[in-house]
Amino acid sequence: MKSQSIYSSLLLCIFAFTRFLAIEGTCIDYPNPLDTSEKVLVECPPTANTDSNVKRENTNFFQVTHTCYSTAALCYKIKEAFDDAGKELSKTLKLKQIIYVNATFTDLFDKTLLGSARSARMIPLISSDNIKRLYPQALVKQFSFDPHPEYNEYDIIARFNAAKNWWFRSDNVEISTDQTDFYTVVLHELIHGLGFLSSWSYNLEHLDGEGTTGLTPTIKYNFISNKFTGFMENIFDRYVMFVRNNVISTSTSYTYQLNLAVANGTIFDTYSDFVAEVKSSSQWKYAKSALISATTDYYLQFSPAMDASWDYYFYLESGISYKPGSSISHISTLYKDTSDFLMTWELDRGVTIEELTIQGKYTSPIGPRILSVLESIGYETDTHPDPIKPTYEY
Ligand SMILES: [Zn+2]
Repeated sequence: MKSQSIYSSLLLCIFAFTRFLAIEGTCIDYPNPLDTSEKVLVECPPTANTDSNVKRENTNFFQVTHTCYSTAALCYKIKEAFDDAGKELSKTLKLKQIIYVNATFTDLFDKTLLGSARSARMIPLISSDNIKRLYPQALVKQFSFDPHPEYNEYDIIARFNAAKNWWFRSDNVEISTDQTDFYTVVLHELIHGLGFLSSWSYNLEHLDGEGTTGLTPTIKYNFISNKFTGFMENIFDRYVMFVRNNVISTSTSYTYQLNLAVANGTIFDTYSDFVAEVKSSSQWKYAKSALISATTDYYLQFSPAMDASWDYYFYLESGISYKPGSSISHISTLYKDTSDFLMTWELDRGVTIEELTIQGKYTSPIGPRILSVLESIGYETDTHPDPIKPTYEY
């Protein structure tokens, strides 16, 4: 990458508010990737598996429903870019089931935002270490459970900003310094939608209108009944390590501690009472510690599963002030000049993904660290044919 390149921030996957609606349920739906206040607890009962596996010869496992507010010509180029990204991922991952994507291209009225995507539904399953974690629906489908938890119509929901100056490969012209390669952003966002996403966020305090002094995993809290049913991490977080004073702690151990702060099933008078109780507990120090790790270079590691494409730990993004959607859920900017540039939080303008891949002599735009994340959470690849699978209890 050129050092003089201008950066454009990729404020991807914003997970700000987490207001649950009235329904008590076990799965979590995210109907809008830009406004995750629409986080909804839903029932997802066991459903007979009637899907037969898709043939491996299929070159694109991603089926995209487009809503495109632009000219027919531009909308066509968007479809082509999605098709290219779907083919690249289908080449890299040994998928068994079609992944349905709901993509909207429209003015997002935010100049800094290129796009945003996330799993449309997160499903709790039991990991191999007997801990319940949230799995993205696109991944759950690949496990071929029968029965399987009821699925959302879509696996991934995505929005892309029509107000940005995009470059498309099919333009057949050189990219200009103020343009962004649309294909790069689609590929990046689809990888978030596949599960490259941490549950740790500032939501606990943010929802109560407070400044951030600590981070927690996903909070299961019903705003109607004011019932708290625990903190739960994503499968991504199983491999996340917090480093403090040369001591390495797992995200899972911090989640365990935070779950001791308030008894699961406690009903509060108000959400503020709940927040006050969590923060006054002796366990809040773990939330504070997570925030320090998430905002200090070299303090946040991803330690891949055995035999993954990258078998050594690497750093996640922790070199910026805490930014929801940018911190934690990206490869550290320290690796921007490596084959894993695709999942850093910022994207160079004026350069195409092909140029970056060729300049770096990389074999694929999806580097080994990125691949190791997908393999660790459970995706099969040619070199990692037997990923760790969870179990579904119903
Ligand atoms: Zn991102």
